Amino acid sequence: MACRKEHKNVDLVVKDLPINQGGIGRHKCAACAYEKGFESGKKHIDSFDIKDFIKNLPESQKGLRRHRDPIEAYELGFYHGQVEASKHLTIKDKKGISFSMRNFGLSIIAKGILNVIKEDNLPYEHALGAINVAHGFEILIKARIVEQHPLLIFDKSLNNEKIKKGKDLEFQDLLDNGRTIDYSKLPYQLWAVTGYVLKDEKLFKDFGLIRNQIIHFHAPLSLSLPELTFKYSFTLIEKAINEWWNKSIFEYIKVFDRDAYKEIFNKLDKLEIIVSYQYHKTKGFEKIND
Ligand SMILES: [Zn+2]
Repeated sequence: MACRKEHKNVDLVVKDLPINQGGIGRHKCAACAYEKGFESGKKHIDSFDIKDFIKNLPESQKGLRRHRDPIEAYELGFYHGQVEASKHLTIKDKKGISFSMRNFGLSIIAKGILNVIKEDNLPYEHALGAINVAHGFEILIKARIVEQHPLLIFDKSLNNEKIKKGKDLEFQDLLDNGRTIDYSKLPYQLWAVTGYVLKDEKLFKDFGLIRNQIIHFHAPLSLSLPELTFKYSFTLIEKAINEWWNKSIFEYIKVFDRDAYKEIFNKLDKLEIIVSYQYHKTKGFEKIND
């Protein structure tokens, strides 16, 4: 069965995905897979039998989507669907808020890591990477706290006189009238609310000071920002998100640069940082013993 849909716009989105010429995805319509992923992402549907879905997809050898990997197309669609849904900050449920924060945080962390593996031939590339990563983790910790209750990420200065009583309290009201907890107080709040203790609180604190220095003054010249950013990302953040959500930074790298895995794993080796994933020639990364 061949796909008869036009898919004009989707074709432009899926055209850069990797080619798949084997396995269950061979010749299947990548544009259809993208559209389905988009729908699932928008609704935050995590449990979905992707293999079965792909088996039943129509085939397509047409246009720019020709030979594109439908699994990758589904995942890209899923990600874009989540981004689309997260535009609506009025989502009322804490699960939805936390989910949007999680995706945003993880995306900027991935972006930050890609910044620091670049040769520093562009000014401040590494400094911007360090800021992204620290900012991303701050959001992830808050996302974890929001899962318990959104109010718990705000400190006492929430200006509740401005929030009309009797009206449903929306997350936007909190953002407009409140002040979220400072970076330095997050480890304590995280522990108090969820019982989780950061793997290296000193590193969290030190990296926060570096981030402040970059934001308010200039990039420190005496430190290796790529090395510190890697340590912070893969000994603190990666460990936390593995445990909290069974998620990994590696999943988000491919959204921006599919070819960066080799370099990232080499750097981890060099720094003797141990993670639960390893380099894979075609997939980019895979879980160890999975
Ligand atoms: Zn199709």
